[in-house]
Amino acid sequence: METKVCVVGAGPAGLMLGLLLARQGIEVMVMEKHADFLRDFRGDTVHSSTLTLLDRLGLGERMAALGGQRAKQLRMTFDDGTFTIADFTRLPGAHPYLLFVPQWDFLDLLASEAMKYPSFKLYRSTETIGVLRDAVTGAVTGVRARRRVEGDFDINAQLTVACDGRFSTVRESLGLRPKEFGAPMDVLWFRVAREPGDAEGLDLRFGAGGLMIVINRGEYYQCAFVITKGGYDAVVAQGFDRLRDRIAAMTPYLADRLKELSFGAWEGLTWKEVRAREPQGAAGRQRDKWHYLPPGGESYAMLAERVAPAIAELERDTVVVSHGGVARALLALLGHASHGEAPIVDIWQGKILVFSDGQFSWV
Ligand SMILES: Cc1cc2nc3c(=O)[nH]c(=O)nc-3n(C[C@H](O)[C@H](O)[C@H](O)COP(=O)(O)OP(=O)(O)OC[C@H]3O[C@@H](n4cnc5c(N)ncnc54)[C@H](O)[C@@H]3O)c2cc1C
Repeated sequence: METKVCVVGAGPAGLMLGLLLARQGIEVMVMEKHADFLRDFRGDTVHSSTLTLLDRLGLGERMAALGGQRAKQLRMTFDDGTFTIADFTRLPGAHPYLLFVPQWDFLDLLASEAMKYPSFKLYRSTETIGVLRDAVTGAVTGVRARRRVEGDFDINAQLTVACDGRFSTVRESLGLRPKEFGAPMDVLWFRVAREPGDAEGLDLRFGAGGLMIVINRGEYYQCAFVITKGGYDAVVAQGFDRLRDRIAAMTPYLADRLKELSFGAWEGLTWKEVRAREPQGAAGRQRDKWHYLPPGGESYAMLAERVAPAIAELERDTVVVSHGGVARALLALLGHASHGEAPIVDIWQGKILVFSDGQFSWV
């Protein structure tokens, strides 16, 4: 394949570059290894100045149609009170606010806009596995790409641009090493349900040994619990209850929503006890274990729905530490068990469930 410009990666950088080049009539191919843009909690904050730039590109109306949540102020809560530390309404321009909009909606918008230009092409499910180089000069002359069905093929380009994110394959294949600036913190991201009457906007809370950021995302809060760099092992060692207590101490209004979803009223009971206390419920679960919802609890179907976005986001080999329910959800989500089979397959203690090359095994 031949093109003028080959852009690796259809994130905000790659798609925006593709759009800008296509607008100038320059032939450009954007390669994206994923089939879609569905990666959660990333780049969801769109700043006032970015919205102004999008206006200038003629995308203002389409951007407004995406909706999203607007934060007009930034509040911070310390032990001695709550203070407004940023008031975006004082910003100049047509967008005096911070906009939260899912990144996939924004990327879909950029992609569909770019596709209006005949010189733009977006190849999804196309992974760049390395760069091509001129044998004499060493100059980059394109990329080698991989598609699951077609296999490997070359794309020759006059200009190759690496927009493939922080674990860039292009950068690695060129032997370039990024400088580490070492942010002194790690962040635990999670969702908590919102309720009618909850405050709007963005809430930052400082407490002993932590910072909590709570972002209104409509039906749910996107929460960030900031911990010291490398502090995750300590959080795991201290246990989930301790983490929940720390978060609840900083954001008391979320305390009763931080419950781990479980078997609800049946949690801690043996099956004999469940059958004795709730024979109808127990029989209902026997009929459809995947969808059965125990009172106050969560079904396997709901669990799988909760797990799916996190799994879809994984980009490298990953260790997932979880209880057996998640293993069952994964077996179903990855197509290794039907909804009838997943709740009854053997889940082994002291073994690791490995998913690799479309297969699974216990080791
Ligand atoms: C948890 C989190 C929250 C964030 N929140 C915000 C925020 O609120 N606001 C904000 O402005 N920024 C935020 N950021 C930062 C923002 O996501 C990044 O700055 C932005 O996404 C970088 O854009 P990019 O296009 O350079 O890279 P990416 O968004 O990483 O895009 C790279 C693309 O390249 C693709 N790719 C990777 N390797 C290959 C390959 N070999 N072949 C083909 N394709 C490949 C990837 O699938 C991806 O689509 C956040 C980041 C994280 C991790």
